[in-house]
Amino acid sequence: MLKRFPVLLLILLISLAGCTGPGNSPQGDTISVVTTIFPPYDFARVIGGESVTVTQLVRPGMECHTFDPSPADILAVQNCNLFLYIGGESEAWVDTILEAVPDSNRVVLRLMDSVECLEEEDREGMTIQETREEKEEDEHIWTSPRNCQILCKTIADALCRICPERETEYRNRLSDYLERLDELDGLLRSVTEQSIRKTLVFGDRFPFRYLCNDYSLSYWAAFPGCAAETEPSPATMAFLIEKIRAEQIPVVFSIEMSNQKVADAIAAETGAAVLTLHSCHNRTLDEAKADLSFLDLMNRNLDALRTALN
Ligand SMILES: [Zn+2]
Repeated sequence: MLKRFPVLLLILLISLAGCTGPGNSPQGDTISVVTTIFPPYDFARVIGGESVTVTQLVRPGMECHTFDPSPADILAVQNCNLFLYIGGESEAWVDTILEAVPDSNRVVLRLMDSVECLEEEDREGMTIQETREEKEEDEHIWTSPRNCQILCKTIADALCRICPERETEYRNRLSDYLERLDELDGLLRSVTEQSIRKTLVFGDRFPFRYLCNDYSLSYWAAFPGCAAETEPSPATMAFLIEKIRAEQIPVVFSIEMSNQKVADAIAAETGAAVLTLHSCHNRTLDEAKADLSFLDLMNRNLDALRTALN
């Protein structure tokens, strides 16, 4: 009996610790995950369930492209078990944080490394900053549900490494969620394959390169994906108005958290309706309050696309 005691004690200690994989020691039974923006936040909480606490550094309602981390954000990255970031141009601030807190056992994933990235595209008619540097890889990888499946697998693998004891739980949730992404992909495929039109017009920035690529859609837009510009040139306005008139396009898109001025001006000239296509970078405060998920937002996009393409 005495001999068996240390073994029992060891089992007890392991079960109290919860997880025994690599990474900073999880706090109690919970793995702390920190993400930069919304999509990986949503994926991590779906796959991790109650075993994770997920913190999104760019809080709801905040603009991702002008984000500046606070000392508390740096601390959160330093102390987490798993840090997920996209890794594009607008997250250059992440490199500064990782250099400041380099020596840690946390697991760090740059999600652009797990998918095949497309180059940012300058389309005819766009207003483009003259000082724009070399073309970069487009960072809006999550706008393709197929990419999301790869991202979710990557996140599940990381959670399994950190907490091998919960592998079955993570794999089960992953496979449920992959099915839901399959459904979304199927719906997008049927809407875009059966539609009368194949062209989208954006009186706004265009962060949907991966979505359009997956579903063979063409597009015209006022600005590139993460552009800081808000004033389109007269040539851009004339170009987009002409496209809408020539092809009798019923909808001009704006993206979430935009002032919609450009789309409104184009709508006033053409009679097209203004709809929002949500790029899911981040949720507004109201969307976060209603706890809308990535799939909720993408399903709204599906309705908007159905209207715009028919
Ligand atoms: Zn962006």
